[in-house]
Amino acid sequence: MSDSSIPAYADTRKIFQQEDVISGNLGLNRLPRFSKILANDQGLVSLELKFTFGEAKERLITGSLQAQVNVFCQRCLKPLAIAVADDIILALVRDEEAALRLDAKLDPWICEDHKLDLAELIEEQLILCTPIVSYHESGDCMTQKDYVAGEDATESIASESPFAVLRSLKDSDTSD
Ligand SMILES: [Zn+2]
Repeated sequence: MSDSSIPAYADTRKIFQQEDVISGNLGLNRLPRFSKILANDQGLVSLELKFTFGEAKERLITGSLQAQVNVFCQRCLKPLAIAVADDIILALVRDEEAALRLDAKLDPWICEDHKLDLAELIEEQLILCTPIVSYHESGDCMTQKDYVAGEDATESIASESPFAVLRSLKDSDTSD
């Protein structure tokens, strides 16, 4: 699960000319902002990015990403494994102004110099495609259920115990 196949940066002067394809895995250690919304650092991100020119000579970044990560279940607050996946269709632009001139179908990715930060790009796409709230399948929040059941049990024992005491007293009376 080496992430060495994904370089830190791509040179935007070369990758589109060469129609480069970059694919491989990225460790969560290289995605600090994404990692912050996760329950732990266990996970795997795999991706493929293609760099091409569009019909209007836009610099297109297309591809896909998949990730297996752990988020917090919002019901029981325990880790929950989820799979996220997304297609990537971005147009690389130099600034906000160029972004405004893009075809509405294309989302801009602004890179002001020649160094395209690949992890940053992937990280942003991952954050966008990860659901804001996730829950275990209904009935799978074991810890939460156990906790509630335990609480109920304690309550019922507490409320029943005076009668149990009375009953045992009564029993001992009648046995006399
Ligand atoms: Zn849960």
